[in-house]
Amino acid sequence: MSKIRVLSDQLANQIAAGEVVERPASVAKELVENSIDAGARRISVDVEGGGRRLLRITDDGEGMTRDDAVLAFERHATSKIARAEDLSAIATLGFRGEALASIASVARVELLTKTDGEAAGTRVLIEGGRMRDVKDAAHPRGTTLTVRDLFFNVPARRKFLRSEATETFHLTNLVTHYALAHPEIAFTLTNNGRETLRCAPAKDLRERAYQIFGTEFLENLLEVDGGNEMVARVRGFVSAPRERRTSRDAQYLFINGRFVRDRLIGRALSEGYRSVLPHGVYPVALLFLDVPLEEVDVNVHPAKTEVRFRRAAAVSDAVREAVRSSLASAGYLRDIEFSASLATRSGVEASEDEKNAEKDSSWSSQNAERADFAFDTRLVAEMPARNDLKLNEANSDSTPTPEQHRIEFGIDNATDEISLREETQDERTAVSLNEQPASSSSITENRATNNAAYLRLDVALPPIVSISNQVREVPVESVSTDIRPLGQIEESYILATDAEGLLLIDQHAAHERVLFDKYHRLEGQRAAESQNLLIPETFDLTPAQAAAFDTVVQELEAYGFGLMRLSGRTVAIRAVPADLPAGEARNMLAEILDTVDMEKRGTARATLREEVAASLACHAAIKVNTPLAIEKMRWLIDRLLRTSSPTTCPHGRPSILRLTTRDIEKGFHRI
Ligand code: ADP
Ligand code: MG
Repeated sequence: MSKIRVLSDQLANQIAAGEVVERPASVAKELVENSIDAGARRISVDVEGGGRRLLRITDDGEGMTRDDAVLAFERHATSKIARAEDLSAIATLGFRGEALASIASVARVELLTKTDGEAAGTRVLIEGGRMRDVKDAAHPRGTTLTVRDLFFNVPARRKFLRSEATETFHLTNLVTHYALAHPEIAFTLTNNGRETLRCAPAKDLRERAYQIFGTEFLENLLEVDGGNEMVARVRGFVSAPRERRTSRDAQYLFINGRFVRDRLIGRALSEGYRSVLPHGVYPVALLFLDVPLEEVDVNVHPAKTEVRFRRAAAVSDAVREAVRSSLASAGYLRDIEFSASLATRSGVEASEDEKNAEKDSSWSSQNAERADFAFDTRLVAEMPARNDLKLNEANSDSTPTPEQHRIEFGIDNATDEISLREETQDERTAVSLNEQPASSSSITENRATNNAAYLRLDVALPPIVSISNQVREVPVESVSTDIRPLGQIEESYILATDAEGLLLIDQHAAHERVLFDKYHRLEGQRAAESQNLLIPETFDLTPAQAAAFDTVVQELEAYGFGLMRLSGRTVAIRAVPADLPAGEARNMLAEILDTVDMEKRGTARATLREEVAASLACHAAIKVNTPLAIEKMRWLIDRLLRTSSPTTCPHGRPSILRLTTRDIEKGFHRI
């Protein structure tokens, strides 16, 4: 007997359900997407028991005929694509034709639907993948899909479901974000009979965001409207730098109306905030990208939460620049920084103006195919001092030799590190910095490089020895107590010495560690210190935050918060933990309530408590770009040395780096 069997459809559907249906929110995602694809103007979502007991999505879309209503539950049954070519330009949210089949295989499903063309509606009952009943039923045009007892026949899956509060949080988040992605559609969400979200059709994203979040929330967000049609239109909202999170959980990305998780865009977003937000903290973002259909492959993941871009670098640039331009127009970036970043744009078609500018530049006309962007000389003059230094070095030593080398100075946008690249001279004409008239700078932008702006200098230059690989993290046992602060670099890193050499201390990370230990200790002793606010601050929660509030309020109060739920989604902050600036309280609360990892709530209180302490420490700690007096540095170092782990911050990143005297001596060829 042959050992290989073809699985029954029912089993195949259950297997597919494993990928598509992870939890109630993923069922809701598929159903809401179907309603949007059906052209609905109005979508309501009803939830009971965290979506486990009941999940009902009602729409006024085109509906299904009786035949289609039955077919819809077949595996690979879809009205959205027909040919392989269709896969290369998918305009609908669905296309795999497996959602309804998968859902119906793991729940009890009732479908009620009617089209304009048919006199009667249809009702289909299907349970655990078995069709139970099909008959006429009254229903207005549109579709109502009711999913009951999710995973009733898959106990293994049921075990993985979290508390009702957690699942409700995910559902609320999902509906909120689809409502934002489609302002023209009216949405309502009802949880155990209580309406938790209602939005009338809105004219644009701003109006929709106002309906959901209220004015106060919007005041803290910057509108993004940039990119271009050919690569990606980028719209939405990002937070002002004062609003920050320690994870990417509050970043929501939609590509062509589809909610996705995308690392590339997340990274581009962080690049947009370079020099505005320190490493390790993330902005809040709601970004909607419109990408030409043929430029994006959505058929990467069964749940369709991942995409692949044909021109990933160009999309990432469009996002970064759109974000930077909105930061610049809000005054968070100096013009000069913004234009420098514009100049690093790559892969985007040059505008007419840019092309003309290139023609005017003598460098470009000589090397048309290589150098396509002339640097503004003003920019060179205003480069940060360390770049100037290197440029000058280059200058003084720039007698061109016949055996020329091409040297590129790279500034890595992510790390601000300067690197050097060398390349032997080919047939190019040598141009040295001092031979150029000021108006046509010889420093050009290499647009082909993705992340880095490379300043090219065609001069002979002795290689500079990099000490970057000599700088090391410090093992905790080698931290001595006689650390002497010397000053600050960029008002962010404390420069200090100890018996072994030079130390760099990240002031924010160090203070975070100090505060984390303190909060943790006081909480353990039930002795949290708190400061009452003279005037309680009120704060509007988003629907999802409101769903999370009751689960975490106890933890927050253990650290010294005094909170009171007012009507609806408004909360009053009456007291905040000691050391936390009152202005940061809102940020910190929002961050904790936005943490999607709600699983930890309820089950592992201890983990949640640690998270609260880390977030609290992060928000209360000295920020980067803060000048410190020597006494304050001494105080900070002294405190840091008394913590449980002086060499790492609560998020596990290093707080101290060392360059040993020995390595310094090696660098200078003294040994
Ligand atoms: P897909 O969305 O990938 O096509 P689904 O299994 O989600 O696959 O749905 C199967 C088909 O059922 C869809 O192609 C569509 O024709 C129909 N359908 C599903 N939901 C609705 C709805 N709410 N309104 C109208 N038609 C629907
Ligand atoms: Mg679908």
